[in-house]
Amino acid sequence: MSICIVENALAVQLAVDGGTPVRAGSWPSWPVVTPRTEALYLEALRSGRWTVSGAYTGRPSFEQRFATAFADFHGVAHCVPTCHGSSALTIALEALGVGAGTEVLVPGLTWVACASAVSSLGAVPIIVDIDPKTFCMSAEAARAAITPRTKAIMLVHLFSAIADIDAFTALSRDSGVPLLEDCSQAHGATWRGRRVGSFGKVAAFSFQQTKLLTSGEGGAVLTDDVELAELMQQLRADGRRFLATPRIGELDLEEVGAIQGRNFCMTEFQAAILLDGLERLDQENDCRRQNATRLSVELEKIGGIALQETPTGCDGRTFYHLCLVIDPAQWFGWSVDEVSRAVAEELALGAIEPVDTPLSDNILYNPLRSPRIAPELRSLYDPGRFELPVAWQARKTAFTLPHRALLGSADDMLCIAEALRKVKDAASQSPRALR
Ligand SMILES: *Cc1c(COP(=O)(O)O)cnc(C)c1O
Repeated sequence: MSICIVENALAVQLAVDGGTPVRAGSWPSWPVVTPRTEALYLEALRSGRWTVSGAYTGRPSFEQRFATAFADFHGVAHCVPTCHGSSALTIALEALGVGAGTEVLVPGLTWVACASAVSSLGAVPIIVDIDPKTFCMSAEAARAAITPRTKAIMLVHLFSAIADIDAFTALSRDSGVPLLEDCSQAHGATWRGRRVGSFGKVAAFSFQQTKLLTSGEGGAVLTDDVELAELMQQLRADGRRFLATPRIGELDLEEVGAIQGRNFCMTEFQAAILLDGLERLDQENDCRRQNATRLSVELEKIGGIALQETPTGCDGRTFYHLCLVIDPAQWFGWSVDEVSRAVAEELALGAIEPVDTPLSDNILYNPLRSPRIAPELRSLYDPGRFELPVAWQARKTAFTLPHRALLGSADDMLCIAEALRKVKDAASQSPRALR
């Protein structure tokens, strides 16, 4: 049960300054556990097989069942599950031939793993600025950044937007450089009626705890290309692939040894939890979408604040982060850091914060501190060489709320709107000089 306190006091006292918060009461919890989640988890626990390298039991493993279900969900031929989103990106990049002497286009605003997965393979991440409306990679900037060394375009669908898939499909066709879709923030979203993750040559997903589909940690790649699928299967299982005719009580893997693999396998527990979550995904996405629509009506009344935009081709929007963009002039010069901190206190909802710092200046992206980078190549990896004015503009105007805020009721959306209104009223009473 939640109570939304509407204040009409002349002098607004924010919760961050000791006032009464707008919101008392809890928010929907994440991750979601149902009796079915527990049943599947226990089934995996008792099955006698806990991972890919356990003996074949005579029944398809959870990992194989999830791979089939996830591929079918996307209308894509092959899925290879992995232990993390980062390892999914790594095997996708390796399968596309990314390594020493190559480059990969990576958007300037995204989670650090996008760039670090590239630099860990000895390739150079070319950090590309974003589109001012969608905050996803700018197709124009990407076109200008392609060189004969570019091996892949890592297209990230960020927060609650889908990158301009039409423009990037055209760019990939014109340049011959394959698209690697990173759908770690857009599970289940659609573009012109088709699931994202089915447009790139390969797509990668993360199932880390905060994501829309989760097993705590976990990842997967999708592809229609059977050769890439075979390669990625081996890359993530120390060079082994599944046998066509496994025998009960024995390993169902054969040693191929055609490439240098690593162990990036998903456990049976992760796969069991994902099988459950996948069944709920569309319904949870619908709920979040309806609540975001309700909230956007309220945002128009407040003024100076709007949802991150997504291109019109996106006809099934998802909300990993609810990303809100303020116009600082209409917020009386308050910085997005100040606004988001105050909103977080009003709502008693963690993880409300400004968007990531652009990769040119992100404290988590430090390729020059890695012993892997050859001294003579250091200048190529210097993140500071990339100028990202649009990503910086986003950092200065946008903040995000976690998606569980959208799993609640219509009244919860009125609470969020009330908190925003209260903070804007407080801003009007103590304006700052615009920077
Ligand atoms: C979460 C995320 C990753 C990394 O996934 P992990 O499972 O944490 O390794 C990669 N790319 C994007 C866009 C992400 O949001």
